[in-house]
Order: sequence, then C-alpha cells, then structure tokens
Amino acid sequence: MELLERLSRRQVQTLIAVQRGETPERGASLNEVARALRMRAPSALEHLTALEALHLVSRFRGKSRLTARGQACLAEYQRHHRVAESLFQQLGLSAKDTHLAALEVDLALSHQTVDRLCAAEGHPQECPHGAPIAPCRSRRGAG
Ligand SMILES: [Zn+2]
Ligand SMILES: [Zn+2]
Repeated sequence: MELLERLSRRQVQTLIAVQRGETPERGASLNEVARALRMRAPSALEHLTALEALHLVSRFRGKSRLTARGQACLAEYQRHHRVAESLFQQLGLSAKDTHLAALEVDLALSHQTVDRLCAAEGHPQECPHGAPIAPCRSRRGAG
C-alpha cells in the first residue's frame, strides 16, 4: 500500500498547514498549525507526532517543518487531487464542485490509477482552479 493511501484526511491537512506555516527561516509553530486546522493544540500535536513517526515532518524546538519526504508526499497528494478535479470537470461538474468531489477520492487512488486517469484526460497541465499538475511519472524528464 502506498504511503498516501495510509494517510488520514487530517494528516494531509496537517502537512498542508505545516507547509503554509513554515518560512525559510523557521518552522511552523504548534499554535499556527492548530489554528489552521481549527483544533486545539494537543490534538494538532497528535497529528504532528504521527507525521514525525512517518518521517514526513521534523520538529525542532517546538517548530515543525516538512522533510523532503513530506514535501514529495504532499506534491503527490496535490497531483492526485488535481487530476481527480480535472476528471470531474471533464464529466461536467462545475469548477467549484470538482474540489469537493475530488476530496472524496484523492487519497484512495493509487499512483498508477492517477497516471492512467491523467493519460485518459489528455495530461492536463492545470486543475480547474489554475493550479499546476505535475507530469506523470512516465513523462517526467521527457520534456
Ligand atoms: Zn499525465
Ligand atoms: Zn484545483
């Protein structure tokens, strides 16, 4: 089973909160992450601790950063989400509805299925909201 399929929705949201909260100078504080997740600090800390155990987040003096593995995992998640959004758009959903529909499936899809969907969609370069979609594995480095 792929790493992404083992993550909970809350864990993905926590990765996103850390990415948004950290700067080149310092990691995201627990309060920043908790606020972004709209949960109390002890609950946010539980998610951070689980992500640290998976080597997706590193914590130093109370501040959290994504590891290289965490960044790669989040990029892969965003690819799943955006390919799913594009699929739903091609099926006729409004751009707004594609986001919620994609949230229902993005974590469950395997990388292989996402690549197949991407190919079937004609390899879209952006999601319906204009965010970039990373190329398929088979096309990376192919120009
Ligand atoms: Zn593709
Ligand atoms: Zn989007």
